[in-house]
Amino acid sequence: MLAKGALTMTSPRVYRCTCGHRLYFRNSACLACAAPLGFLPDDLTLHALLPGPATATWRIAGIDGLFTRCANFHTAAGCNWLLPLDDRRCGPLCVACALNRTIPDLSDPINAELWGRLERAKRRLVSQLLGLQLPVAPKSEAGDRGLAFDFLRTLPGQPRVMTGHAWGVITINIEEADDAKREAARQRMGESYRTLLGHFRHEIGHYYWDRLVAGTTWHEPFRTLFGDERLDYAGALQRHHAAGPPPDWPQRFITSYASAHPWEDWAETWAHYLHLRDTIDTAGSFKLLSTVDEARPLPYGRDDLWSPGHATGPDFLRLLRDWLAITSVMNEMSRAMGQPDFYPFVLQRRVVPKLHFIHCVVENGRTP
Ligand SMILES: [Zn+2]
Ligand SMILES: [Zn+2]
Ligand SMILES: [Zn+2]
Repeated sequence: MLAKGALTMTSPRVYRCTCGHRLYFRNSACLACAAPLGFLPDDLTLHALLPGPATATWRIAGIDGLFTRCANFHTAAGCNWLLPLDDRRCGPLCVACALNRTIPDLSDPINAELWGRLERAKRRLVSQLLGLQLPVAPKSEAGDRGLAFDFLRTLPGQPRVMTGHAWGVITINIEEADDAKREAARQRMGESYRTLLGHFRHEIGHYYWDRLVAGTTWHEPFRTLFGDERLDYAGALQRHHAAGPPPDWPQRFITSYASAHPWEDWAETWAHYLHLRDTIDTAGSFKLLSTVDEARPLPYGRDDLWSPGHATGPDFLRLLRDWLAITSVMNEMSRAMGQPDFYPFVLQRRVVPKLHFIHCVVENGRTP
């Protein structure tokens, strides 16, 4: 299990206030002692804040320097992240908010509400990417290789805003943050899972394909495993939407949409990998992994990996074992509350090598 120190936890999800109270990623004040709290991306930790020498400056016990809150703290985004006072490369915004290129018109209270939900999901995403030591830089800093978010709403008489990724720009139609509309879309598309965080994790998968796979030594093995991405993309998506997935998709893909094109297979499997890592980190943070059934034999072995002899194999199989253990318990927990399944997927053997391949790309792509 992770707690025993195999693969290190990349995104701890539980923190302690100086008063001893347990804190969560979203908190901006301690519910026990009322201390103001801020998330420091440098150490991926939520800290209790002490007043600094000037208004709106803060200190953290045991850490040198002064900090300020992200300028989005007082907006609908409610960002609880910090930035060093002497390093404001991103201006007044934290590393997560600095990735925004376009946000909706906040004079409309509905836009503000929807944007707040998007930013909560985005902070979860960005904190995980930082924990995995994947490259995260705004276009203003990294140019073509940088990342930017456009949060858009379809305007009357204009073409519908499509959620998607192109050249490092991730566009999200903010209506996806409207629960009723998202649920209606989920049913219309026959999906078992549709969330804001899932959208972010899928679209960032396209970005990292460009950054970490295209034109590298991973490119050929990618084609062997996922298929040739030179296949006509627009035509493949049209075909998928018109004719639906192949009947045997559940044996070969993590979702039906993944069967549409090798790029979508990559993005769906990548998103799944991020779900898996964050959920296991969260369970590990709360010491839940040691309470679930460790002894159950794993239905996958080394021969199911992308590269059976790869050095990451044992750690990866341990991740899968933790994942199956925690998701089966969480499904029963959801059923106990009459909620839809926590994990509405079946992890088929033929998806395992794809997940392992992504694990290898991520471990290789770390840029501390
Ligand atoms: Zn406290
Ligand atoms: Zn921020
Ligand atoms: Zn996609």
